[in-house]
Amino acid sequence: MSVRKIKLLPNDVIAKIAAGEVIERPVYAVKELVENALDAKADSISISLEDSGLKSITVSDNGEGMGLEDLKESFKLHTTSKISTTEQLTRVATLGFRGEALASIAAISNLILQSRIKKETGGTKIEINNGKIESISPVGMPVGTVVTVNNLFHSVPSRKKFLKSKQTEYRHILSLLTHIALANPHIHFHFKHNKKTIFDVPKTTTVLERITLFLGSTIFSNLLPIDFQDSYIGISGYITKPSLTTPRTNKQFLFVNGRTIADKLITQVVKHAYGSLLPPKTLPIFILHISLPHELVDINVHPRKEYIRFADTTLLYESLHKTISRTLTENNLTFYDDTGFGIALGDASLTKSYAGILLKEKNTPWDIRPINETVSSDIIQLHNLYLVSQTRFGFALVDQHAAHERILYEQFTDALKKEKKDSAQYHLPKVQKLELSLTDAALLQEHVALFETLGFEITQIKNTVFFLYSVPLLFQDRQPMELITEMLEDLEKSKKIKNIDDTSHKMLAYLACRAAVKAGESLTKKQAKELLEKLEKTNNNATCPHGRPTKIIMDINQLHRMFKRR
Ligand code: ADP
Ligand code: MG
Repeated sequence: MSVRKIKLLPNDVIAKIAAGEVIERPVYAVKELVENALDAKADSISISLEDSGLKSITVSDNGEGMGLEDLKESFKLHTTSKISTTEQLTRVATLGFRGEALASIAAISNLILQSRIKKETGGTKIEINNGKIESISPVGMPVGTVVTVNNLFHSVPSRKKFLKSKQTEYRHILSLLTHIALANPHIHFHFKHNKKTIFDVPKTTTVLERITLFLGSTIFSNLLPIDFQDSYIGISGYITKPSLTTPRTNKQFLFVNGRTIADKLITQVVKHAYGSLLPPKTLPIFILHISLPHELVDINVHPRKEYIRFADTTLLYESLHKTISRTLTENNLTFYDDTGFGIALGDASLTKSYAGILLKEKNTPWDIRPINETVSSDIIQLHNLYLVSQTRFGFALVDQHAAHERILYEQFTDALKKEKKDSAQYHLPKVQKLELSLTDAALLQEHVALFETLGFEITQIKNTVFFLYSVPLLFQDRQPMELITEMLEDLEKSKKIKNIDDTSHKMLAYLACRAAVKAGESLTKKQAKELLEKLEKTNNNATCPHGRPTKIIMDINQLHRMFKRR
């Protein structure tokens, strides 16, 4: 007799599995709850968290609410009021449609739902524990819904282990709410964390007021409006002038039919439209709303609906490209390169950037030094990337970028150490006001102690406004605003930073990378030789600051063996 091994999973296990896919971290629970409030046509939504949402998440709205019977159905798996046929699945106009969010959250938390519809005089409160109803009672409340999620993940401790630090989770939530608030200027949002109001933004008719608050006044003052409409595609919003760009994608806001999405191709189209106006390695900043008939987008391709599929991309890309290039041309933007990233070796085209100045004034790496006897004077550059030279016992292959990075890194480290000894601080002649985005402000606040140990003097004046009084002497020639933003970018990208040496290492490695000769740059014989000589004299010269090898040495005996001479 054969033994059956396949069984249908019990419902609570199914719910926990679904939860794993949708509610991977607190931010996704917040997203689902706020989207439900938006789908319920609320025009005022409050979000209140404790402990980055791990202890509690409360989302209240003044939307249409749920009656008793609906309330009892709402947190079951695959129950929804938003679609009912496959046909409707092809033109979803709401943010939700799968009916799994509340069920998933209920499966892994203690959930309290309170809701009232307009035609009732009071509401109902349901308490749910691990997916089961604990109690149902009447409650006095205005029309709308209040969802409270307590102890998220308490029944899946394994999930908790995978979460990043509470600060990181908090920043993800702040970033999500930034997207939602920018996508819905006609809705009042109030956000509190650990009982403190983080923002409270009234309804408005334009997104501009919110841009200043959420992204800072620098972005605000560099905006160019975008407006395109044809028979079925609408594109509106803002891009920034090419003089203000970002190395990260987190200042790119893309909404399709009101939904926040990520789309590499659309992002590329925007970048492409800027063409050579953009400095290398930077991205444009944009807040773009695209509207299309619902039939032409498939939102059912990703568990959290972060990506969508378009029925016809050609027309969309063309329209987008056209409207952005037109806006840029109309504003008569001409570009000049003062980024300092493209350091041309040998000539003096060093620019105003910190690394540029440092190289020029203190530590020009291209001084001629006596020829190191281990390096022959004939150096071959392969593919503008590797330098091949004969050594006494064989030959060496050097990665020009990695090598230069290491050389600069060691120079920068020495300079910083020297300055720390004299605790050299440069007091800015004028206090600098830093106006950051909400997420950047949270990041700076989190790391302010680290910045101080490095020699920065920073005080927070308001939510997103900081005063900068001094910088480490090493950085006196840099634009402080640029410097802080670059460091924040680096901090955000990196994993948890534990100590000051980590930070300064990252910072210096970052600067070294920016200033180093690029892979793909052609070097003159003289430059190639100087690079190898410098490398020989540099500490830790086997790897770049990020740990990649700078050189590979081949012994002549290895060659002999390959050619079967031995
Ligand atoms: P979905 O949003 O995919 O339909 P959910 O599990 O998020 O699935 O919600 C289930 C149902 O509960 C929704 O379809 C909606 O009818 C109801 N619901 C959830 N949240 C709210 C709310 N804030 N206001 C009114 N109804 C809600
Ligand atoms: Mg939903």
